[in-house]
Amino acid sequence: MAENLTSQQLMELEGKYGAHNYHPLPVVLSKGEGPYVWDVEGKKYFDFLSAYSAVNQGHCHPKIVDALVDQAKTLTLTSRAFYNDALGPYEKYITHYFGYDKILPMNSGAEGDETAIKLCRKWAYKKKGIPENEAKIIVAENNFHGRTISIISMSTDPDAYSNYGPYTPGFITIPYNDLDALAKALEDPHVAGFLVEPIQGEAGVMVPDEGYLSKAYQMCKERNVLFIADEVQTGIGRTGKMLACDHENVRPDVLILGKAISGGVYPISAVLADDDIMLVIEPGTHGSTFGGNPVAARVATAALKVIKEENLEERAETLGKIFREELEKIDSPMIQTVRGKGLLNAVVIKPIEGNEAMDVCLKMAEKGVLAKPTHGDIIRFAPPLVISEEQLREALGLIKEAILSFQVVGQSA
Ligand code: PLP
Repeated sequence: MAENLTSQQLMELEGKYGAHNYHPLPVVLSKGEGPYVWDVEGKKYFDFLSAYSAVNQGHCHPKIVDALVDQAKTLTLTSRAFYNDALGPYEKYITHYFGYDKILPMNSGAEGDETAIKLCRKWAYKKKGIPENEAKIIVAENNFHGRTISIISMSTDPDAYSNYGPYTPGFITIPYNDLDALAKALEDPHVAGFLVEPIQGEAGVMVPDEGYLSKAYQMCKERNVLFIADEVQTGIGRTGKMLACDHENVRPDVLILGKAISGGVYPISAVLADDDIMLVIEPGTHGSTFGGNPVAARVATAALKVIKEENLEERAETLGKIFREELEKIDSPMIQTVRGKGLLNAVVIKPIEGNEAMDVCLKMAEKGVLAKPTHGDIIRFAPPLVISEEQLREALGLIKEAILSFQVVGQSA
């Protein structure tokens, strides 16, 4: 039984029997509550990754878990061959919540992105009049939209795409945060969509210039091109607004949500759009056995309610400011840049004495804060949004201690 095994033994099991497609920190977790997780030896940590922003509502939120358990005892899966009594109410709830005519429910974030790509292409042929198989979608360098073949075909990260070819055609890559490049790409009359993350999370929390999203949106409108926002990581309160696009009052034509739409208890994703776009998909032309199942419907409804009931957007906004201010005060040559929005933040680490971002993360874990480097030198900090100011300040103290434990030789501690 798992409870008799040590962290070491459990890590060995994963190493021996699991594919080596991740490189986790050497911490084995067995319990979570709110902003905290515990390892199998009982050590308590602040979770500053939140499962890549899936656990915005905190670990094991009672209202979300109750919805899961209650529905799981009643009816879990019908497939979409039949109607079920949970899906319709959820569809009404989420479309009103975000202000769209329709939702197409899926499971993982990657499936959400795949769905949006298919929707955009079909709209291109049926509505925009682009010749068959000629539709193109503009994407940004350093994007992260998931791991499927089409999605890695848009990737500029060799780790993501190398040795997985042949790749899906039909994407035009431009630099992120570059409106001139977008204008040029939009000149191609076969462009159907612009797929963009409002903040590039996996790339290291790259926040575009103010005005980028709203201008990009306008430019897309002028060319009858769909503005497709991947808010899988940035959505659901994370950046201090319900959607990161809300910071610039942009309403995407196609909105992709995932991760925290379930509060982290279940894989749920969603694509939202209005009828003139969504209804190009007809019965039998797209779907998923699990998409829109009754458990997902109940869980997502509960998870979205919690965000509003607990004012988690506002909390992310307020605490995010404190977090960045306090990090900037830390006097260490290791801290090169602090950036982010709301509670989606990152620090670019300058290695000293051979110590890199991974060493800082290991030291933080020792002190009781879990975070993970992305792209080698960047540490992303994204605690559950339910963290209190007091807890945040306590965690900041531990982060500071960890960073200051690395000293340039000759520098006093
Ligand atoms: N889109 C964005 C912006 C993401 O950050 C991620 C995951 O990190 C995905 C899509 C893929 O989501 P999933 O891992 O659920 O497929």
